[in-house]
Amino acid sequence: MKHLFIGLSILCSSLFQPLSHDLLAQGNNAQVDTSWKNTYRATATKTNNLKHTKLVASFNYEKAQMNGEVWLKLQPHFYPTNELVLDAKAMDIKEVALVQGSAKSKLNYRYDSMQLHIDLNKTYTAKETYTVYIKYIARPNEFKGQGSEAIRDAKGMYFINPLGTDKEKPTQIWTQGETEASSVWIPTIDKTNQKTTQEFYLTVPSKYVSLSNGLLVKQTDLKNGFREDVWKMDLPHSPYLFFIGIGDYAVIKDSYKGKEVSYYIEKAYEKEARKIYGNTPQMIAFFESKLGVPFPWSKYAQISGRDFVSGAMENTTATLHSDAVQQDARELIDGNNWESTIAHELFHQWFGDYVTAESWSNITVNESFADYSQTLWFEHSQGKDAGAYENYTALRNYLSSPTDAEKDLVRFFYKDKEDVFDLVSYQKGGRILNMLRHLVGDEAFFASLNKYLTDNKFSNGSAIKLKLAFEAVTGKDLNWFFNQWYFGNGHPYVRIQQKYLADQQKVLVTIQQTQTQNKLFSLPVGVDVYVQGKRNHYEVWSKNRLDSFYFPAAVAPDNVNIDNDKVLLWAKDEAKPIEQFAFQYKNARNFMDRYEAVNEAGANLKNPAAKAVIEAAIKDSFHIIRSIALNSYNPASIDATMEQQVIRLAEKDPVSTVREDAINVMSKINKSTYQPYFEKWVYDSSYTVAGAALAALEQLDSAKALTIAKQFSYQILKKRLNTVVATILTKYGDQDVFDFVASNYAKLNIQSSEKFELTAPFAQLLIKTTDPLKFKKGIDMIVEFREAIPQGYRSQSDPYFNFKILGDILKAKKQKGETELANIVSAVLPKM
Ligand SMILES: [Zn+2]
Repeated sequence: MKHLFIGLSILCSSLFQPLSHDLLAQGNNAQVDTSWKNTYRATATKTNNLKHTKLVASFNYEKAQMNGEVWLKLQPHFYPTNELVLDAKAMDIKEVALVQGSAKSKLNYRYDSMQLHIDLNKTYTAKETYTVYIKYIARPNEFKGQGSEAIRDAKGMYFINPLGTDKEKPTQIWTQGETEASSVWIPTIDKTNQKTTQEFYLTVPSKYVSLSNGLLVKQTDLKNGFREDVWKMDLPHSPYLFFIGIGDYAVIKDSYKGKEVSYYIEKAYEKEARKIYGNTPQMIAFFESKLGVPFPWSKYAQISGRDFVSGAMENTTATLHSDAVQQDARELIDGNNWESTIAHELFHQWFGDYVTAESWSNITVNESFADYSQTLWFEHSQGKDAGAYENYTALRNYLSSPTDAEKDLVRFFYKDKEDVFDLVSYQKGGRILNMLRHLVGDEAFFASLNKYLTDNKFSNGSAIKLKLAFEAVTGKDLNWFFNQWYFGNGHPYVRIQQKYLADQQKVLVTIQQTQTQNKLFSLPVGVDVYVQGKRNHYEVWSKNRLDSFYFPAAVAPDNVNIDNDKVLLWAKDEAKPIEQFAFQYKNARNFMDRYEAVNEAGANLKNPAAKAVIEAAIKDSFHIIRSIALNSYNPASIDATMEQQVIRLAEKDPVSTVREDAINVMSKINKSTYQPYFEKWVYDSSYTVAGAALAALEQLDSAKALTIAKQFSYQILKKRLNTVVATILTKYGDQDVFDFVASNYAKLNIQSSEKFELTAPFAQLLIKTTDPLKFKKGIDMIVEFREAIPQGYRSQSDPYFNFKILGDILKAKKQKGETELANIVSAVLPKM
């Protein structure tokens, strides 16, 4: 699974640090239930094991229900048993029977709306199998969960616009099983340590296509406007990976080694399908070659769902993406922003689906691998710099959330099973894998992954099993590494200092571990010491609070590069002269060497060595470095040469975001001679470039910018252009722009950063809005967005919405004396 709220949560915490802390402090005064801290989350006991699942289903769109009949073949795990307990949530159970040949005999059962307790006709041993039949109605909208806040979205099966009343939205059905929601629509043992083969017989409207796990083996026209599609999955997988999708999609077919690779896409985006998903066969080939394990399944399809509750989900052979995957041709000019998610979900077909975490406590053996696959894929497809940048971005995301340092990676204690889907299981886990790869070497790393996958195929994995695989392959005891990183929490904070000792011809380097946590880390540290232009490499260990290292240096070193491969998961504070960073940029061996040097140089522009770094970095081969160099320019002191470079990048850089950054610099310089450039670029094919140019034009000529924004408001707008047009309209326009801005706001996917960015201008518009109906509608839309953010992010996002956005509107309405409107806002704010 992949959530996409990480950027948003960082955005809102950075926008809103002080108040969010106030709110947390208030929250701490309340009675908080911490009993979960003492509740060990055991792996589910296996009493009966699923063997095969057969489902016959039809869909009641009027009631948003599914009529189901299921045949479950089961087998006691070890001990004899005369009872079967199934997960079956909020169902209307019609019949429960034992199937023997063609005969059915009724079985006694108890049902408490969560679980179905069935008395079997006799005691079965582990040598016997038996089949039960259940006829039922699945009622996903009746499912209310059980006291867990995070389970709010766990309906399992979603009917989107089932009656077709919303003209803006297609009618779709899709399912989301993880964590334990498949049992809302199919009785099963809804645990990751169960595996079953399956066959689904789905009666669907003839006008729609269906998608499920495995192969479509048969289609029968029922002649009444319906068709029966039979999907068969011959290899076992876990119930949370069950999938059904039904809707009006174009199906684009690719293939890989004779297996179907398909893309289900809404017809409006059909032409873009290959631009969005087209790298999938190459990704399969790449992952296969790295892992030495062929793609395990019979086909691979990808589909998108409206109003999807997550970013994407790796259902076996049938990945479901949020509809944000669907980008139009103009958006794709800036690149495919879904590429990493496509890699992530594909990698899960091995790590997650083929070998499945034995419990939610061990989810990192699914998610850290999927997360790390993004680094692997970018490294392979776009080069080492892109891989390293992806890796660093994930590290930075984890480090930006200090409370996550308190959580163990393998987490046997948690409040809710949804809580483990966080920056620790994903981003931190992925960086730990990156360290492990570096520690054992590339060949051993992938050989170990091969062993882990092969030893545990069609079964379950855990951090322990991962450790055993690495130890078997490398012949090394890795307890220290796994205890430190997998079965513990936190990360090192280090202070690195150096001093040249001329009399001893040595350089002294100290590494001090400063974490307040009562735990010291064992860290293998690579060190490059450059003396008189020559690189000398050393390997040392940081193990104590303070370690001192002496390296030979006949003269003061050109650079001391600690953790020279930039692999360690730590937060560092490093003091060294800017001249060393300048040397580091010139002699960089990897992306992070340059990244650190450019950032440091950007902060020291008065220094000639730093200025030289920036002048070189603006021509760097990797666009991220060019962007950082641009962003470090001080518009007040820019010289003519630099200015020409900036204009050249704004005009010609092949990467839209670099052009955007260059236009931003021009906008800060704000010369009236730039106006013709901006007026030209507002019509650029890239939404990003056009948006930046319009924002820049507004600084010079707001009347002109408003005229253009009004013209644009009749077009489809996305990304930065959309936000800038809305901002200009709300700033200079009056409430007659409400319909345009509101409908744009409504259309944005809740996982897009644009929706977040548009919230503040939209709030400004609501301050101007006096029509009570429109005002109420706008407030409702903001509240809907607030409520749609998953629980894990709410402690960061709620304060932003309540204090900054809604709070500002409330204050303004009170000041204006618009009491009626102020009351509308008060009603949606939490009672203090
Ligand atoms: Zn995932």
